Amino acid sequence: MRLADESVCIGPPPSSHSYLNIPAIISASEVTDSQAIHPGYGFLSENADFAEKVERSGFVFIGPRPDTIRLMGDKVSAKVAMTKAGVPCVPGSEGALPEDPKEVVRIARAVGYPVIIKAAGGGGGRGMRVVHTEAALLSAVTLTRGEAQAAFGNPTVYMEKFLTTPRHIEIQVLADEHKNAVWLGERDCSMQRRHQKIIEEAPAPGIPPRLLTRIGDRCAEACRKIGYRGAGTFEFLYQDDEFYFIEMNTRVQVEHPVTEATTGIDIVQQQIRIAAGQKLAFRQRDIVRKGHAIECRINAEDPYTFVPSPGRITSYHAPGGPGIRVDSHVYQNYVVPPYYDSMVGKVIAYGDTRNQAIARMRIALSEMVVEGIRTNIPLHLDLLIDESFVRGGTSIHYLEERLAKKKAAG
Ligand code: ADP
Repeated sequence: MRLADESVCIGPPPSSHSYLNIPAIISASEVTDSQAIHPGYGFLSENADFAEKVERSGFVFIGPRPDTIRLMGDKVSAKVAMTKAGVPCVPGSEGALPEDPKEVVRIARAVGYPVIIKAAGGGGGRGMRVVHTEAALLSAVTLTRGEAQAAFGNPTVYMEKFLTTPRHIEIQVLADEHKNAVWLGERDCSMQRRHQKIIEEAPAPGIPPRLLTRIGDRCAEACRKIGYRGAGTFEFLYQDDEFYFIEMNTRVQVEHPVTEATTGIDIVQQQIRIAAGQKLAFRQRDIVRKGHAIECRINAEDPYTFVPSPGRITSYHAPGGPGIRVDSHVYQNYVVPPYYDSMVGKVIAYGDTRNQAIARMRIALSEMVVEGIRTNIPLHLDLLIDESFVRGGTSIHYLEERLAKKKAAG
């Protein structure tokens, strides 16, 4: 806010009164005589009603059409649309789970245990429950339905096979209003805790390029088929050389800088150009990927207990040097508020090779100073020398298994 040319107060700290308050944001746009609204990556960025109200109020929404956001925002309708568009999905219930318990049991038997029950309206790693046995099935479905209703206002749940050793691989796309669509390569976001990403990288180590090209081309084709507009991400689980679509994010993502570093394309600039009705200035064959980039999310939390650690940053020093990018809003004396997500910054390291990117990241994080609050930098420094991470290609369960082992060892 201090760096902005102009700023407008949109309400008090609780997000329901400010960042999620649609009329307050529309009136801020009016008083500043804005042309367009960029929704960022949290809060209302995937809210179709918001996109609709922005457009109805005469502003440009920098993102997909409201009906596309709605289609992809419901994971059940998204999977149906993707299956139709030729994108492979995780095997599971075809659409929402029915009410009839006998039917639910039958579907789970057909899918095969373990299964995962997921909320159609879920997001942010919430609204999911893994079920290993038939005895636990029905109560898990009831619990997840209740949580989904409370958290997302939609009790619809669906079932997928729970994959035991997948990696999280996602494809970044850009599509304009003139039916041009490209993919900008993949990202590996398998280093996760509680379904939340911690480290992301591009390219994904060890996946055969022909498999990536095949899935990337399918994603670009799906964009053309559904008339997608803007930047977007197709998220997949990858196991045994197969990709399984899990969801689409209809916005720019936290981890987009690793794609920017390896393609040289400014994704946010592209979002704005697309929203202005311009044609993409490049085709698929023009996209050249080079080097390797890694992003570490810096969270204000205890590195081992993960308890949030808001408060005043008494001392701050951001790292630099060749290939280092820091995206953050914090500064010395900044107070991390307790109201929002705990992420206070992202460090991105680029190198000619993955090893160079890792080495640069280690140096950058060891030089980074954030005092007064706790951060997860020590956890990152631990992972950056972890043998399996350095080898590359760990599954989405790796970090939690590692944390559990450490805990058991005291
Ligand atoms: P969200 O919108 O909350 O991020 P996703 O559908 O993208 O939900 O899933 C988030 C994470 O949950 C995935 O990255 C993965 O770690 C885990 N997950 C989701 N579906 C499955 C599945 N079928 N099998 C195993 N893990 C899964």
